Amino acid sequence: MKRQNIRKTLLVIFILSLPITMFYLSPLLTLQGALRGIVTSSLLFVVISAIIAFFAGRIFCGWICPGGAVQEVLFPANDRRVVGGKYDFIKYGIAMIWLAILMFLFVKAGGIMAIKPLYGIEGGFSLRTSTSYLMFYIAMGAIVILSLLIGRRPFCHYGCLLAPFMIAGKWAATKTKMPHLHLEADSSKCIDCKLCTKSCPMSLDVNAMVRSENMYSHECISCGACVDICPRKVISYSFSKAGKQA
Ligand code: SF4
Ligand code: SF4
Repeated sequence: MKRQNIRKTLLVIFILSLPITMFYLSPLLTLQGALRGIVTSSLLFVVISAIIAFFAGRIFCGWICPGGAVQEVLFPANDRRVVGGKYDFIKYGIAMIWLAILMFLFVKAGGIMAIKPLYGIEGGFSLRTSTSYLMFYIAMGAIVILSLLIGRRPFCHYGCLLAPFMIAGKWAATKTKMPHLHLEADSSKCIDCKLCTKSCPMSLDVNAMVRSENMYSHECISCGACVDICPRKVISYSFSKAGKQA
């Protein structure tokens, strides 16, 4: 099976896993836990996702995240390219507000009292009650509406509060010059067909990245779509210290 078919199959599997996994990623459950001084699995996952990003970029977004998967499934309905740019900063604001509330709640609770990975996920299964189903449909409904209105992965660009933590991990790897997964390109082979740009689920101008010989983007989710579509094999994955990067 070709790599992008494997990726899309994995994304569908992770959508189907949502009834189990949803609360393991829930920022609301994180805050509910903090109110009682409890570190939940969703808070642990924020830390784990940043560590994964340090070594492998935003591979979670491109290959695993059910929220990202729902948005990609909707590409046939609306695959308009999203603007990004300064609007990408919206998610940093959301993450900072969430982090401030989280810290306030932990301080109010007297600090960290316990680490309970299954807090709020009794039996390890997320969707068990009518309230949990309501939360599921509100969260998924918002992502679906955003995608139908705006286009390619708008929630990843503007709304995901996990993304800034992963971007921090990924950025730290480039700054510390530690070996990590990233894209490289040989611009001398590029014929400017722009297939890479057209295929990018994050609406990045990949052709311009190739031409500038800087393949780093905070918004790249390491999906490999550009790697796989390029007819001249210009772009490749590399696990090494990166060269020229932002
Ligand atoms: S798909 Fe390959 S050849 Fe075409 S513009 Fe992108 S990098 Fe260049
Ligand atoms: S630049 Fe390439 S690897 Fe990164 S998100 Fe776009 S298509 Fe995927």
